Amino acid sequence: MKIIMLGAPGAGKGTQAKKIADKYQIPHISTGDIFRANIKNGTELGTKAKSYMDQGLLVPDELVVDLVADRVKQDDCTNGYVLDGFPRTIPQAEALDKALEGMGTKIDYAINVEVPDENIINRMSGRRACVGCGATYHIKYIPTKVEGICDVCGEKLILRDDDKPETVKKRLDVYHEQTQPLIDYYEKAAVLKEVDGTQDMEDVFKDIVNILGA
Ligand code: ADP
Ligand code: AMP
Repeated sequence: MKIIMLGAPGAGKGTQAKKIADKYQIPHISTGDIFRANIKNGTELGTKAKSYMDQGLLVPDELVVDLVADRVKQDDCTNGYVLDGFPRTIPQAEALDKALEGMGTKIDYAINVEVPDENIINRMSGRRACVGCGATYHIKYIPTKVEGICDVCGEKLILRDDDKPETVKKRLDVYHEQTQPLIDYYEKAAVLKEVDGTQDMEDVFKDIVNILGA
């Protein structure tokens, strides 16, 4: 089962992708997580990516396309995967299609998690990420048991640099301009599925399971 998560920044792609990966036992591939890990480890890719991420801009296609094309060729991806945050532009989607075609396969589902812009700023300002394992929470909607501490690994939680309101506004503009056209792209490919992302996390997941099958 090869799945793409579509949706605005903060729509809940990562939250749902983790649940999908867990239920269907497939890897969760988040390009944002890959970049953040590279930044943490001080790699050249991380340094390059950070300069774009901090401004709310997309990292150039050439820095992300090969990375994902290589990742989906790894052994753990044989039974599928859930891509979270990729593709984000039409050229990325075309490059992915081409790479998959070369492997004799294709995307099965592109799940669009729909959340209007007015809910997004609220979601992002309350998002907290674990510095240790990358788990995400929301101070109001998905709180941890102990404030500021990750339920999974006990490390401390932080507000992402790019979740500050000024940057979120820019990221939303970039989303509408460069990423939203992917909805049409995957509709034409007859793999688009829409879910209402304004519901509770568990209800969104129920809708996704209805699409993917139990
Ligand atoms: P994305 O990966 O699309 O950027 P996240 O999955 O990180 O978004 O979710 C953004 C924020 O909203 C996080 O703080 C997350 O805990 C919270 N969140 C996710 N899904 C829901 C939901 N259905 N209702 C309320 N808050 C949610
Ligand atoms: P995310 O964790 O998905 O919200 O991504 C955080 C940031 O990483 C984005 O705002 C972009 O700057 C960068 N990024 C992640 N995935 C991509 C991608 N597929 N193409 C370009 N930039 C990306």
